[in-house]
Amino acid sequence: MLNQDLGRGRGVYISTYGCQMNSNDTERMMALLEMVNFIPVESPEKASLIIINSCSVREKPVHKVHSEVGIYRELKAKNPDLRIGVGGCVAQQEKQKLLKDIPLLDFVFGTDAIDQLPELVAKCYDTGERQVAARFENEKPYSIETMVRNPGVTAFVNIMKGCDNFCTFCVVPFTRGRERSRNLKELLTDIKSLVARGVKEVTLLGQNVNSYESECGADFGQLLKALAEDTDIARIRYTTSHPKDFNQELVDISQKYRSKICDYIHLPAQSGNTEVLKRMNRGYSREEYLDKVKMIRDGIPGVVLSTDLIVGFPGETEAQFEDTYSLIEQVRYDNIYAFKYSPRPFTKAARFDDQIPEDEKSRRLDLLLKTQREISFELAKPYDGQVYDTLFEAKSDVEGQIQGRTTHNKLVYCYAPESLIGQTVPVKVLKAFPSVLRCELVTGSAASTVHNGTLNL
Ligand code: SF4
Repeated sequence: MLNQDLGRGRGVYISTYGCQMNSNDTERMMALLEMVNFIPVESPEKASLIIINSCSVREKPVHKVHSEVGIYRELKAKNPDLRIGVGGCVAQQEKQKLLKDIPLLDFVFGTDAIDQLPELVAKCYDTGERQVAARFENEKPYSIETMVRNPGVTAFVNIMKGCDNFCTFCVVPFTRGRERSRNLKELLTDIKSLVARGVKEVTLLGQNVNSYESECGADFGQLLKALAEDTDIARIRYTTSHPKDFNQELVDISQKYRSKICDYIHLPAQSGNTEVLKRMNRGYSREEYLDKVKMIRDGIPGVVLSTDLIVGFPGETEAQFEDTYSLIEQVRYDNIYAFKYSPRPFTKAARFDDQIPEDEKSRRLDLLLKTQREISFELAKPYDGQVYDTLFEAKSDVEGQIQGRTTHNKLVYCYAPESLIGQTVPVKVLKAFPSVLRCELVTGSAASTVHNGTLNL
């Protein structure tokens, strides 16, 4: 039986790397630890429990864990009560080896072991022995309750975990396991409970949300429809979509429930060249990707698109890179997330023998980002002077200003009373930047000219 006073009011500090999935996992870890009386603290110096929630998607992930644990050496020497653990993708990937390589570490837990965290910490304190929990739970149905300690206006909700796609550059299938979806009914209950606690917008999270499949057979489109019809959530966002699984049904549902489903789709292309896409194992050609973009834009006029791109994938020729370059010019995304390829453990592409030199990757990346900057600024211009409904989420760092987002995921800053936080209000754009709109409140007749999903770009 777990001691409900395990923490005895001691401080816990979690250092988080990586994507929104990891931030969401940190929130869950904190909620579980608070239940056994650990208190979140702002700095490692105040903590008796330090957790590094690691990420292995970007460069030198294991090295980052080693150096961060090293920083805590003095704290550990001063405080014999201090326990240090590593969770997340690096923990899942390295397991026992991490304990062997880093003597200061007390425990390691994988991405499927988050709910065991209080027991693991209890064992650490009780036995004084180092602990590892990093087994995948591929057999059991994926059922969790969303844990958000103090929900604000927006909340993140995991709808599935893992990935079955095995893109040749990506470590996720090895660190997050096979795809498993949460039950539709469980998600509806979860989101109704968040709404009852004041949440107005949810972002549904998964590595590949389009392959969501509930036990009852409902797919992602049907999940969106159920959330739009059966809950009072005001706004629904989701990430990440896989182009090969984005279908017409999802487009139709997005258009039909446009008042709730946001006009922003992140559609990772990764490359604009069919041969490179084949070597990446992405499951679509350039033409098929462009067909999906057309299907989405025809079905949801004015929707905003962003993407992920990798430059310098092994064997990428100058001509193949130019296809990626021409893709951004052709699609004209509002925003791109572009990275230089770097090899990841276990992945097929890491073993390809035609790796591209670093300086060449940097040159290609600079070129892509420079062109995208110009496109993003051009696309921002039509926002000037328009009126958009904005859901205000929080105070900004500037006195008297609050911040929120439009349905297109543009960050809005506006001088307005804090009482508007949590409300959807029309604002007029004074100055538009690629991701940020500086706005003022509008009243009267101007408020009735709201442009939401109908911006003509
Ligand atoms: S779809 Fe590909 S890139 Fe995305 S998580 Fe799965 S393997 Fe990784």
